[in-house]
Amino acid sequence: MSNDFFKPVSGMDLPRFAGIPTFMRLPHVSLGHDIIIEVDIGLIGVPWDSGTTNRPGPRHGPRQLRDASTMIRAENGATGVRPFETLNCADLGDVGPNPADIADSMARITEFYTQVLTHNIRPLTAGGDHLTSLPILRALAKETPLGMVHFDSHTDLFHSYFNGQMYTHGTPFRRAIEEGLLDPKRVVQIGIRGTQYDSEDQDFAKSVGIRVIKIEEYFARGLRDVMAEAREIVGSQPTYVSYDIDFVDPAFAPGTGTPEVGGPNSFEALQVVRALDGLNIVGADMVEVSPPFDPSGGTAFLGVSILFELLCVMARAQT
Ligand code: MN
Ligand code: MN
Repeated sequence: MSNDFFKPVSGMDLPRFAGIPTFMRLPHVSLGHDIIIEVDIGLIGVPWDSGTTNRPGPRHGPRQLRDASTMIRAENGATGVRPFETLNCADLGDVGPNPADIADSMARITEFYTQVLTHNIRPLTAGGDHLTSLPILRALAKETPLGMVHFDSHTDLFHSYFNGQMYTHGTPFRRAIEEGLLDPKRVVQIGIRGTQYDSEDQDFAKSVGIRVIKIEEYFARGLRDVMAEAREIVGSQPTYVSYDIDFVDPAFAPGTGTPEVGGPNSFEALQVVRALDGLNIVGADMVEVSPPFDPSGGTAFLGVSILFELLCVMARAQT
């Protein structure tokens, strides 16, 4: 049972527009705090977008997502899951990046997550652009390669950008495969679409056995069928979930750097996460929310709603 200290502040006790916004109104527990040893799931902000190749802004994501997350209540209305009752959840704060140095930022992120893991805390991350996932995986997959369910309109499997630059938000999972952090046979990418430079990324996917489910196949087969296959691919072994908000159609999530039309709606955006129930999820992230392109705040609200669904399936995995 969870300790009362870790219960989110209810909107019945303090109005949602009041107070200092932490993720889902949870207590802020820094890594140096004694009570860190009691945390089961840590929500972590990574305000970093140095891997962005086009429209920037996800460095502002965690602050906006914290604000939007004050709307999240304690119970999942669809599944009945009440994650804060079974687990101690806390906002572990932000990883401070070095916005002028990609390698240093990645080292800082890996070091932070390594410390998180020493306390047996499972991380749920609010990015940040998609390069954020690579230094997280370097900490999480130190012992053994992970499987991954990846929602995105892009594979992020390209070899390099801009005359050999290896570290961008279009390359994190190519590096993760090369570094042995992911088992390619246990990786599934869902929602891929849009115009492309070439098929170098997808040729690579095919060559190593990554399953790419393009949006045409997703809509032809339907969500249930596709997610049943995704569950089979990752199986019962440790699995990471990486969720790029541009998986969702830009009519519902315009506040992102690389939108692609013809995607799932906001209802399906939640449903695909519910379909992960029971998997062995060791960590998850929500990336690429860009507040400067989100003047209504609607993309951030969808982002935190997805984060809550991720938290619910992570909570079920632990109990
Ligand atoms: Mn991505
Ligand atoms: Mn994307």
